[in-house]
This record gives sequence, C-alpha cells and structure tokens, in this order.
Amino acid sequence: MCIIVVGLIGYYVFVTCKKYRIRKKISNRKLKKVSTIIKYKLQMDKNTCVICQEDFSKRDKIRVLQCDHHFHKKCIDKWFESSCRCPLCNNNLNKQDENI
Ligand SMILES: [Zn+2]
Ligand SMILES: [Zn+2]
Repeated sequence: MCIIVVGLIGYYVFVTCKKYRIRKKISNRKLKKVSTIIKYKLQMDKNTCVICQEDFSKRDKIRVLQCDHHFHKKCIDKWFESSCRCPLCNNNLNKQDENI
C-alpha cells in the first residue's frame, strides 16, 4: 500500500515537472507587448516564414516582432516554447524594452 502511495506521489511530481518544462519561455503578456499580430497583405515585402520555410499566404496570421521580423503566428508561438529569442536576429525578447 505504502509503495503505491509513494509511486503515485512520484508520478505526480514527474508530470508536474514535465508540464513546467514545456511552459513558454516568454509569457503571453510579454509577447503581446513586444509583438503585433497582423493579417498578411500581398504588398508586404517580407513573405517567408523562416521557421517552416513556407511563404505567407493570404489571411495567414503573422506575428511581427519588435525587431521587424515576421513569422507565422503558430510557428513562432511554438518556437517560444523552447526559446525567448528571435530565430533570425537572436534578439532576447524577454530583455526587450517594452517602450520602444
Ligand atoms: Zn511558418
Ligand atoms: Zn528578429
């Protein structure tokens, strides 16, 4: 009986740690402040997402970072689960001044 309880507690701690680890490296609140979400327009000069290597298409949601780099919203949001830096210029968004 005791072993089962210890096992359960161990499992719980393991799951909690795992959950904690896949938390975004940058908070949604911060992300909102340092980036904007726009709809893709044909006249935009930046038209490729470097994360998935695909061109933006009409009505794609694009996240524009303060460094003026553009990515698919879904791609960059996934990226931020493992990094808090811009994939292109290595700019640390957590250290970005929010007032620029
Ligand atoms: Zn993409
Ligand atoms: Zn950048």
